[in-house]
Amino acid sequence: MKFNGYTIEELQPGLYAIDDEKSDSMYLIVGSEKALLIDTCVMQDDILPMLQTLTDKPIELALTHAHIDHMYHSGEFGTVYLHEKDIAAWKKGSLKLLMYAGYAMFHVPRKKFNVARFVPITEETVIDLGGVQIRVILASGHTPGSCIFADDVHKALFMGDAVGNGGVSAWMWLPGSLNTSAYRDSLEQLLVKLKSYETYQFLGGHRPQTFPTADAPDGNPLNIDVVKDMHTLCTKMLAHTIQPVGKEKQAVLTVWQYAYGITGMWVTKRKIK
Ligand SMILES: [Zn+2]
Repeated sequence: MKFNGYTIEELQPGLYAIDDEKSDSMYLIVGSEKALLIDTCVMQDDILPMLQTLTDKPIELALTHAHIDHMYHSGEFGTVYLHEKDIAAWKKGSLKLLMYAGYAMFHVPRKKFNVARFVPITEETVIDLGGVQIRVILASGHTPGSCIFADDVHKALFMGDAVGNGGVSAWMWLPGSLNTSAYRDSLEQLLVKLKSYETYQFLGGHRPQTFPTADAPDGNPLNIDVVKDMHTLCTKMLAHTIQPVGKEKQAVLTVWQYAYGITGMWVTKRKIK
């Protein structure tokens, strides 16, 4: 189904994946009492009118992390959940500054983000939609407070950008992204926390990047092996036993691509420590 540039797919009853024209993804989970949108994509028009064609329940918003392509439309929602570590990083300035680069990158007008009103969440938080409970798994790295949301009813994990998106390497070069050793520690904990979720469907923050292409006719998987390979990749980078496979300019920074197994990352050399 198409709506104003969005592609809407009902993955299961009560679970929608919505992709915008820039390969950004959001997910709508509908419970018996209320609905929860995970992330917002980044297109110019308001998104609530589109979402209200899918449900008549009140809609709250949960953000996997505080980047423009995930939170651009947060001002349309009365309740916005964000991990306390990303709220703290926003207040310190790194994520807020990045937003200015984002306006230019995505060609969208500036907005005011009142992050002080966001509801801080931790791994203790459970968002109850009525019949569907959403749990929070901290997956620090891409941002300090990057979260994965778990839905036991639909057996789905909403991954945001925590470990990249299938064949597309994770962006770990950004201001606010953790150093490689801190990311490795976080992934080590994440692998333990994901033990009971390994068979769930992993849904990324940029789902179209996992779709089949001429080079990858079966698509690029986003699953537990991505997390395992990312952990191994960090170990190899820290031991200097792996060489970069790509190099790119991002504004004033030189960023390097490292790859291992079915995953990879873009990073500045100074973060490899
Ligand atoms: Zn991001």
